Amino acid sequence: MYRDVLLYIGGKWVSASGGKSIPVTNPATEEIIGSCASAETADIDAAVAAAESGFAVWRNFSPQKRAKIMRRAAELLRERVEAIARAMTMEEGKVLAESRAETLVAADVIEWFAEEAPRTYGRVIPARAMEVYQLVIKEPVGIVAAFTPWNFPINQAVRKVAAALAAGCSVILKGPEEAPGSCAEMVRCFADADAPPGAVNLLFGVPARISEHLISHRLIRKISFTGSTAVGKHLASLAGLHMKRVTMELGGHAPAIVFEDADVDAATRILAANKFRNAGQVCVAPTRFLIHENVYEEFMERFLSFVANIRIGDGLVAGTTMGPLANERRIAAVEGFVSDAVEHGAHIAAGGQRIGNKGYFFQPTLLTDVPPDAKVMNEEPFGPIALVNRFTTFGEAVKEANRLNYGLASYAYTRSTKTATAIGRAIESGMVSINHHGLALPETPFGGVKDSGYGWEGGAEAIDAYLNTKFITQASG
Ligand code: NAD
Repeated sequence: MYRDVLLYIGGKWVSASGGKSIPVTNPATEEIIGSCASAETADIDAAVAAAESGFAVWRNFSPQKRAKIMRRAAELLRERVEAIARAMTMEEGKVLAESRAETLVAADVIEWFAEEAPRTYGRVIPARAMEVYQLVIKEPVGIVAAFTPWNFPINQAVRKVAAALAAGCSVILKGPEEAPGSCAEMVRCFADADAPPGAVNLLFGVPARISEHLISHRLIRKISFTGSTAVGKHLASLAGLHMKRVTMELGGHAPAIVFEDADVDAATRILAANKFRNAGQVCVAPTRFLIHENVYEEFMERFLSFVANIRIGDGLVAGTTMGPLANERRIAAVEGFVSDAVEHGAHIAAGGQRIGNKGYFFQPTLLTDVPPDAKVMNEEPFGPIALVNRFTTFGEAVKEANRLNYGLASYAYTRSTKTATAIGRAIESGMVSINHHGLALPETPFGGVKDSGYGWEGGAEAIDAYLNTKFITQASG
């Protein structure tokens, strides 16, 4: 059912040199289902050496040859979707349908970047002298160190791996120790698609030890991290110290504004479904619901009825619509957010408590009239908590939306084109989705501003993060 996860270094699946491993727990049952190898410094160095020789080979494959291998990896992911999705649900907790969707979207991401590989165009700049050619070419940046979290064990990783490989870079991926199996299966698809040894390498272990070693290593040229803002700032400062290029995909605290002229039924259905997807452990989850006072009652009635119909349980069981939180830390964090909000005067309209004492289940929770100084109004809840407050004017909604230092995703619902256009411009976030949920497609840019990080992980922008620009000026000899 769940196989023990090894490191993948230089084209071989290997145990950690020190023999250490980390247990993997099923958050629905609290049973240990397997383990993942925990790399020592010697393994990290072996991965760098493998990535160095992998880079020398991979960068010299034509873009078409790289694309062919990547397309084969995408096919393998699709063929293996059932087994991979089961492993993901067992290790992370999300329901099987979400695990399947994540795996299939990852195949689309790989294919999209495979198609971009031959399109890393440079340009020719007209020269001041007839015998001179001025060329701008794009080259792979070098060996990439990528660090990815547990909430989307495949998708957070594949966006980095596929973009880097398409650009001609080799990659050392430090995957999520708490949900390593599905991430390793994604890497296995590249291995089985005949990516040359060292093009992709996979490590698990003590995150801080691996990141510090890799970021300061002279052969690593690019750092990409997805995770919390606090860790992101630490890694970005280390990268700055060593002059490494960086992409940072960090936390969010998305405002979701429902104006009085909105289709409230559609707004509630779409926002609620996206609030409780993966039990709320999603960086773009709608979090601060700002509802116009004239539609507040209708919104709450529909939202409460949606919540009442959520079926909580083991994600492997048919009919479950929300699984457990991914680990025990999240239960403690979410409980802390709820009690602090209540102390500050918030009202619990639904949920608010842990369910049972086996598995990390927490009730879908709606807090209303939450004051801005409650902790949960300022820190990413990363759990099934919706914060619902009323507003009266457009300016009031924008002020609250932009109050925080986060700036990842934001949502708005209105039937007025004028309001839609105005809100799209007024909100300080990397992504704004209006009247539908349209984020995180392979072909569209995904990323944040302010404390939510910098750089893009989808769309044509994403491959640029893995390319250097080189200027060559050439006169006839
Ligand atoms: P955390 O902040 O310790 O870890 C977040 C991620 O960063 C994990 O994957 C972890 O392995 C990694 N990490 C931590 N220290 C690291 C280091 N020094 N070097 C490299 N990687 C490191 O805590 P957590 O309990 O796993 O999650 C807590 C918070 O992180 C959540 O509340 C959420 O706000 C945020 N988070 C965000 C995302 C996202 O998609 N942006 C994903 C997971 C967690």
